[in-house]
Amino acid sequence: MQQDCVVVGASFAGLACATALAGSGARVTVLERKHDPGGKLHTTGILVRDVIEQVPLLDGLPGGLVRRINGVRLYAPNMSCVDLAAPGYFFLATDTPGLMRWLAAHAAAAGVTLRLGVGFTRAAREGSGFFLGDDLGRTRFLVGADGPKSTVARVLGLGENRHFLAGIEHEYAHVQIDEPDRLHCFIDRQLMPGYIGWVVQGVGVVQVGLARRLRGGDGAAVKASMAAFLAKIAPLFRFGVPAAVRAGLIPCGGIVERVAAPRVLLVGDAAGMVSPVTAGGIHMALKHGLATGHAIADFLSGRGEDPARDVRASYPTLGAKRVLRFLFDHFQSDLAFNLLLGTRPMRRAASLIYFHRRGVFDEPPARAARGRAARSR
Ligand SMILES: Cc1cc2nc3c(=O)[nH]c(=O)nc-3n(C[C@H](O)[C@H](O)[C@H](O)COP(=O)(O)OP(=O)(O)OC[C@H]3O[C@@H](n4cnc5c(N)ncnc54)[C@H](O)[C@@H]3O)c2cc1C
Repeated sequence: MQQDCVVVGASFAGLACATALAGSGARVTVLERKHDPGGKLHTTGILVRDVIEQVPLLDGLPGGLVRRINGVRLYAPNMSCVDLAAPGYFFLATDTPGLMRWLAAHAAAAGVTLRLGVGFTRAAREGSGFFLGDDLGRTRFLVGADGPKSTVARVLGLGENRHFLAGIEHEYAHVQIDEPDRLHCFIDRQLMPGYIGWVVQGVGVVQVGLARRLRGGDGAAVKASMAAFLAKIAPLFRFGVPAAVRAGLIPCGGIVERVAAPRVLLVGDAAGMVSPVTAGGIHMALKHGLATGHAIADFLSGRGEDPARDVRASYPTLGAKRVLRFLFDHFQSDLAFNLLLGTRPMRRAASLIYFHRRGVFDEPPARAARGRAARSR
């Protein structure tokens, strides 16, 4: 069995890459170790508006899979808060399992062979391609879109992610929160050092989670943070028993050192393609997954160079965001956020991070919310 390209991982990056390849007529197989691409996800699945504008793959996404969120309510450690919005800007909460199954069906319709329940474990260079074993055969090109702890990277000697945030999320059914059209974000260095907590009214569920720096792989600390976070926000949000709990690692060290070698490359989380500031990776996984698929298709049809040669040049550098991550890691101060959150420079900085532009601030509702939060403490 000879494939033009084998892509490992049927998630955002892998499905985007494979769909682009199949669209050019390439024989492409996606290996996914789960039996259901929509099962056991580890993400909140929030899409930024730019994804909808920049990723044609999502054209035709059924409206029932998304829910529009118009702004952010940002809470300081002392639970004072400010509302942020930017004209025309929005986020989309998603029915992420449904979205993933939709992407997988889209890929299959484009001609991608999906091999579900099949994990990638080995590859040997053979001629100018790879031999993946008797069951999987040979491929001319290999793509690792297999997430933060990439087996493709390990087996092929490529760069591996070394710095992570640890995320945990509870999902609650049959609950409605106040202010459901805002993404509620919480800063607290004691509970989530290095990142934030969040509450979002998703599609049919409420998602409540946090991410924090990972110290020595200590999963118990993450669970303890989650329990303390739920207790802290209980005066504002009450949820009952979670219908689902998920956890996962978020690479936050930028693009890995050796992201490609001849005829093999990494994309998405496997490449470290996550914003070190917002910890969002879906946008980049889809965008660069598609671009990578097109570049490999050009190469396979003789119209371009091996994209693995200088893929780093086409990947985001994330330089400024890594500087912000360093500052947040070393100088995050609850006192500073308590004192400064309501100030104009701080709201401006927060808007730039959330919306990539200056926001508008609805003073009266924010003051009202601050009052409500204070009263309920
Ligand atoms: C708690 C949490 C919340 C998050 N929330 C958001 C958010 O709201 N918005 C946002 O933009 N980003 C968010 N992220 C980050 C985002 O989820 C990732 O950046 C994104 O999923 C990366 O997509 P990917 O396709 O590169 O990899 P992944 O989504 O990690 O998919 C990798 C796939 O490869 C498969 N796989 C792994 N190893 C093998 C193997 N050996 N063989 C076969 N298959 C394999 C896995 O089963 C999986 O399906 C969050 C992350 C976490 C942990």
